[in-house]
Amino acid sequence: TADSAKSFFRRNAFVLFTIVAVLLGIILAFSLRPYQLTYRQIKYFSFPGELLMRMLQMLVLPLIVSSLITGMASLDGRASGKMGMRAVVYYMVTTIIAVFIGILMVIIIHPGKGSKDKLHREGRIEQVQTTDAFMDLVRNMFPPNLVEACFKQYKTQYSTRVFTRTVLHSTNVTAGVTTTQIPVPENFTSILENVTHALGTISEVLTFEEVIPIPGSANGVNALGLVVFSMCFGLVIGSMKQKGRALREFFNCLNEAIMRLVAIIIWYAPVGIMFLIAGKILEMDDLAVMGGQLGMYTLTVIVGLLIHALCILPLLYFIVTHRNPWVFIAGLLQALITALGTSSSSATLPITFRCLEENNGVDRRITRFVLPVGATINMDGTALYEALAAIFIAQVNNYELDFGQIITISITATAASIGAAGIPQAGLVTMVIVLTSVGLPTEDITLIIAVDWFLDRLRTTTNVLGDSLGAGIVEHLSRRELDAQDCELD
Ligand code: ASP
Repeated sequence: TADSAKSFFRRNAFVLFTIVAVLLGIILAFSLRPYQLTYRQIKYFSFPGELLMRMLQMLVLPLIVSSLITGMASLDGRASGKMGMRAVVYYMVTTIIAVFIGILMVIIIHPGKGSKDKLHREGRIEQVQTTDAFMDLVRNMFPPNLVEACFKQYKTQYSTRVFTRTVLHSTNVTAGVTTTQIPVPENFTSILENVTHALGTISEVLTFEEVIPIPGSANGVNALGLVVFSMCFGLVIGSMKQKGRALREFFNCLNEAIMRLVAIIIWYAPVGIMFLIAGKILEMDDLAVMGGQLGMYTLTVIVGLLIHALCILPLLYFIVTHRNPWVFIAGLLQALITALGTSSSSATLPITFRCLEENNGVDRRITRFVLPVGATINMDGTALYEALAAIFIAQVNNYELDFGQIITISITATAASIGAAGIPQAGLVTMVIVLTSVGLPTEDITLIIAVDWFLDRLRTTTNVLGDSLGAGIVEHLSRRELDAQDCELD
């Protein structure tokens, strides 16, 4: 048994380290909190965490591109078509269930109580049509400049432009066409000042993402555009037979090399996660803000996400594969904790790859192909959250939604989750689409900003779990194609 204990330890070392790191981070943060560190001190303190975030993000672009290209090129057209269909069906079904749960929870628990003075606000805001939001989504699939798509984050042409005419003041932000004052939470102020300083001017056109600073967003890429390009490119070089060999080998090798880098960085992950979590706890406002409506709202989101992540998804996995979902999920623990620590499903992607391939033995032909797509478009947690948050804002405003509007919210929440980049708090940005589609005031996003950093982590973890279980399900369903290909290779 000493031997088996040893081998258990070896197999689970990273997970154990990571769990210990999280606990240490929490203890460290709470013991430092009484000293009321300044914003700068907290930034210094969480520097090792920031480094982890940057390292992971560094790998994302080559990882997405190389794995999708090799993934597509190594499958024949028919097989990849079938697998792709299965993945898309899985994404759609789980996203729709997630939206449904979100709506159900917010209606049953009803966390938002309207105050009398906040009545109808319809017509005050320039309406964004749902069509515009969809067109933005499709536009982003075809980046006009591939190089730019590699360092320019997802941008909407129209739907966020409503929000982009932004004038910065030191503590207040005037946003959107409604020029409403948005009070920015205190800890954002210094970042805002930095942005303002860097621009050298007070009034500038900034996007919402820049106004509400999203850590890491500057390093974002237009993942959706790159995914579409890489898939097409992979398919084409796959069909080029002998002529495409050099390219296939190149991307294969690139993919292999990146995965080796991941294997190195993974050693650093527990340290980084510890400081990420500790830094965030030091930074957060007093928990008192969680009282009242916001507390109920937070609770509603948590319940919704838990139902989806711990009941629906495992059940679905079990129904399809007849295997124990908890064993599968146990293999994913490190990815899930990383998602919790980074609140970015794309930054978590390298770790998700490792967990699925090394711990759960999912076929690389599946992970390469399904994971990058999943991390980009399949966001159950975000979809659930957006629908729930929109209805909460309606409740706060005493705004009665009719059935048609609830349907509109579910459709736009789905679109918004597909469009949201896998970066921290991206869901908050795409909320604009959902709110405006039913005429709700976008400035009310500020009502939920205070708790978003926390809820973002939970929805990101749900997103990563959904992608990973999806890979397991698609692998199970595609066994026949995979075996057939194995025979061909033999
Ligand atoms: N942070 C989330 C993710 O990376 C997206 C969101 O904000 O909902 O998956």
